[in-house]
Amino acid sequence: MDFAYPTELVERVSSFMDTHVLPAEPVYDRQIAGAANPHALPPIMVELKEKARAEGLWNLFLAHGDWGAGLTNLEYAPLAEQMGRSIIGNEVFNCSAPDTGNMELLALFGTPEQQDRWLRPLLDSRIRSCFAMTEPDVASSDARNIRTRITRDGDDYVVNGRKWYTSGILDPDCELIILMGVSDPDAPTYRQQSMVLIPRDTPGVTVLRDLPMFGYTDRLGHGDVLFEDVRVPAVNLLGGEGQGFALAQGRLGPGRMHYAMRAVGFAERALRLMCERALSRVAFGGPLADRGVVREWIARSRIEIEQVRLLVLKSAWLMDTIGNAAARMEVAAIKVAALEVAHRVVDRAVQAHGAAGVSDDTVLARLFSITRALRIADGPDEVHLRTVARHELAKYEEK
Ligand SMILES: Cc1cc2nc3c(=O)[nH]c(=O)nc-3n(C[C@H](O)[C@H](O)[C@H](O)COP(=O)(O)OP(=O)(O)OC[C@H]3O[C@@H](n4cnc5c(N)ncnc54)[C@H](O)[C@@H]3O)c2cc1C
Repeated sequence: MDFAYPTELVERVSSFMDTHVLPAEPVYDRQIAGAANPHALPPIMVELKEKARAEGLWNLFLAHGDWGAGLTNLEYAPLAEQMGRSIIGNEVFNCSAPDTGNMELLALFGTPEQQDRWLRPLLDSRIRSCFAMTEPDVASSDARNIRTRITRDGDDYVVNGRKWYTSGILDPDCELIILMGVSDPDAPTYRQQSMVLIPRDTPGVTVLRDLPMFGYTDRLGHGDVLFEDVRVPAVNLLGGEGQGFALAQGRLGPGRMHYAMRAVGFAERALRLMCERALSRVAFGGPLADRGVVREWIARSRIEIEQVRLLVLKSAWLMDTIGNAAARMEVAAIKVAALEVAHRVVDRAVQAHGAAGVSDDTVLARLFSITRALRIADGPDEVHLRTVARHELAKYEEK
């Protein structure tokens, strides 16, 4: 087993993060706080994107065809970890969800016309996009439940329903909604759903609410969205009719992996802050770092991060070698393990900071909310645990 990283690219992303991205965080926060629209791209992000692109650090996540950087999952994993050291990191390199998953879908299943219209501008970061699957009225972790209807009417499809936590829809640059709905309720269970491409400005699309994330207004914006007689031409179908479920699986596999990779970066950031605080803060006659309990937090955090990084790399390697479908159990496992570890390490770092950990003076409170929310987004932990348990039990049921 070779434990060496492909270091040149990792070092370039890491150095870009240290030189440009981490120092820009307070500027980013100030610009958002002072903006008329909290969802608009702040000027500092425009600058950072231009720099990253000029250095060739762009679309690194995308492996397919001639579209992206062509890296394997194993090569991308340590880069995503570096980007995760800042909560604004992945956007700088045009590697942020939900665009990443949407670009993957378009690269894999889009027609040349769909790719020209949507994929190219997304790759250039000229527009943004969102993905509408989850619905407020049904348990959407079981996607068989979704109710939004996609009905064929002559040369069009007509969409009716309500979605929520549609991330990115409030960004004024968002021009594309990829929506999953039911196109044939009488078809076999996994052939009932389809995906359609809806231009954001289509009549009948109404954002009812801007949903918060634990009280934070996210830059991306999470929309509660009503679709009323939304009409798109039939050529806006993505893939074939009835392929929605299969496409969703393709989209979510790499997406989960990207979250896990990034979570390792979140955890590293929190551990660093915890160590710095423990060394500098004096209580009851000595630095916090001298207390056994704090040393245990630090040591356990280091051990857990190392464990989870290895599992991330193994899962990435399996995706590259046996394919996303065959690596399904590992992808499910790593989504659970990485976010659990990241959230636990952030929680310890918050504790070590006392009130400062709860304030907005450090990035920890934001990391706390992000790592918690990501245990639900892209499928809650329990659904992934179900996949892992089913895989494990199958070994014995077969006998
Ligand atoms: C910050 C954020 C961003 C998001 N962005 C998007 C987006 O861009 N697009 C989009 O479509 N969706 C998005 N989502 C929605 C997310 O994918 C769903 O919330 C998630 O899939 C769960 O669906 P649900 O909320 O309907 O929960 P439900 O399906 O109602 O489940 C509720 C809870 O039930 C439990 N549960 C479910 N199944 C099982 C089981 N088999 N065994 C045991 N327990 C179980 C779990 O604890 C789960 O959390 C986002 C969510 C968040 C928080």
